[in-house]
Amino acid sequence: MRIFFTALANLLIFTALAALLIGTSLVTFAGNGPAKTHTIGKKAKPQNTEWDAYVAKYLEDAFKLNPDMALGAGNHAYDSVLVVPDISYRKNLDIFLAENRSRLASFAPIKLSATERIDRTILLKDLDQNEFNLKELKSWMWNPADYNVCGSFSEILANGRIAKKSRVQALVARMAKVPAYYSAAAININMPSAVHVKLAIAQNKGGMVVFDEIIDSLKATKPAPAQLAKATARATAAKASILKYIKYLEAIPADKTKDFRLDSALYYHKFDLYIQTGQTAGQVYKAALARKTLLHGKMYKLAAELAPKYLPETERTKIAADTLALIKAVIDKISQDHCKPEEFQDKIKAQIPELAAFVDKNNLLYQDPSKPLVVRKEPAYMAGVAGASISSPGPFEKEANTYYNVGSLAAMAPAEQESFLREYNTYTLQILNIHEAIPGHYTQLVYANRSPSLVKSIFGNGAMIEGWAVYAEQMMLENGYGNNSQELWLMYYKWNLRTVCNTILDYSIHVKNLQEQQALDLLLRQAFQTEAEAKGKWKRATLSSVQLCSYFSGFQGFLRLRQQYPALGVKAFNEKVLSYGSAPLAQIELAMKEGN
Ligand code: ZN
Ligand code: ZN
Repeated sequence: MRIFFTALANLLIFTALAALLIGTSLVTFAGNGPAKTHTIGKKAKPQNTEWDAYVAKYLEDAFKLNPDMALGAGNHAYDSVLVVPDISYRKNLDIFLAENRSRLASFAPIKLSATERIDRTILLKDLDQNEFNLKELKSWMWNPADYNVCGSFSEILANGRIAKKSRVQALVARMAKVPAYYSAAAININMPSAVHVKLAIAQNKGGMVVFDEIIDSLKATKPAPAQLAKATARATAAKASILKYIKYLEAIPADKTKDFRLDSALYYHKFDLYIQTGQTAGQVYKAALARKTLLHGKMYKLAAELAPKYLPETERTKIAADTLALIKAVIDKISQDHCKPEEFQDKIKAQIPELAAFVDKNNLLYQDPSKPLVVRKEPAYMAGVAGASISSPGPFEKEANTYYNVGSLAAMAPAEQESFLREYNTYTLQILNIHEAIPGHYTQLVYANRSPSLVKSIFGNGAMIEGWAVYAEQMMLENGYGNNSQELWLMYYKWNLRTVCNTILDYSIHVKNLQEQQALDLLLRQAFQTEAEAKGKWKRATLSSVQLCSYFSGFQGFLRLRQQYPALGVKAFNEKVLSYGSAPLAQIELAMKEGN
């Protein structure tokens, strides 16, 4: 539900995150909280040093194979390394998978603590995911947008926590392999998906400027002439190799490209590997269809009650027979209640303490007062994407702040501002803040930080993380947030319908061959979206798969879990489910069932 759209172009999808969070998230996963630990279960077993040593080795080897994964975790030991995605890389990955499969099999679950058992399952899933990506999905052959070095170069360059001189030195070393990287990429590509060819061209073109920025940064450190000459030559070669890759992609004839859709078997398999809520893709799809019908019913009831307040009688009678049209007319009117463009950032800032106070007053969960959320205006390198997102440090930078980045609307044309503000109107903006900040993503991250498991931090499960944020929205409203305002409920249902339709859309595209016109009908008429939003969503759905299901799958998972523990109060339930860190919901369910 993040409105932030950063396409993470990772080389070969190594982590669960990289594959699952394409195009969605700035949530990287914060790690171990320094002071308190939050052990699962009553008795913490004595430290299992053999297991700990194994996990450390696993991560070290994984980081070496995929330095971008280290970067995402806030480990900068590999900033100077770029791995060339060639055949020897794939062989090394295959060896890594086989070795770790047998190592993991040698740890009997019974000898591990509950939290270690979850970590073991997470690592096994990581191996499964990698094996699937390498040998079944094979996006390294058909997705040219998998190859883009620019994002990681930019991220390292922008990292103010390391001295500029060391950053630039690491980047100059990292640049050496860029030409080999893109040569390997071109060799790998065979029958690419046409939409991904376009994406790869646009992203690589747009990202290339980073090499000039690196040289400018180097100049600012007053380098020796020879050092500057070497770096400049590398930057020039890097840019040339990217241009060559772009030319290569542009020259691929249409009859040598394929459709972007996965087939049903691949989709179901990917869904199982990544979502991990204990339900199949088909079950979640069916639940989403049922939820859509339920929401339409609730929305119509509210809209009919609100109609006299918002619509003139002539209009009401004209559309009374068309339930969807009536809902839309009322939503359109309510959406006109919004702030001014220049107030947007301050409005969000003012709301955070209000949400925290509501959570405390209503005893919804414990909030750690030593971890305040820092609301900031969006930093320049996130450039120009309006909206809000959480960015938090990786587990290797745990002392850093968590930020709520709020974009400015200043760069938008007036009509664009108006349309954006209607979307994020007075009501929806509150739901956005609940989702992104309190008690949504930010609160969940604070809890995850207290779970003393690096594995759960690094391999955070997307459906758990998004599902929690979606669950938190409903939980707040059910507990009286907004004083049961009918307007707020109606806008909440519209917002929730978006996550529901994300699932319907994603499944239907990949499994049922849904076409663009049918997709737009779903989003525009049945989900009340604007044309811009619907078209953007269609595009995103063509570029990713399964990820769009994480919101609704996780939401359903939390609701199902809640039903299993009717005796637990809201606070006890929330704190319990959050105590496991960002573990997959199926694992949380199992651990709770076992009484851990
Ligand atoms: Zn989210
Ligand atoms: Zn307006």
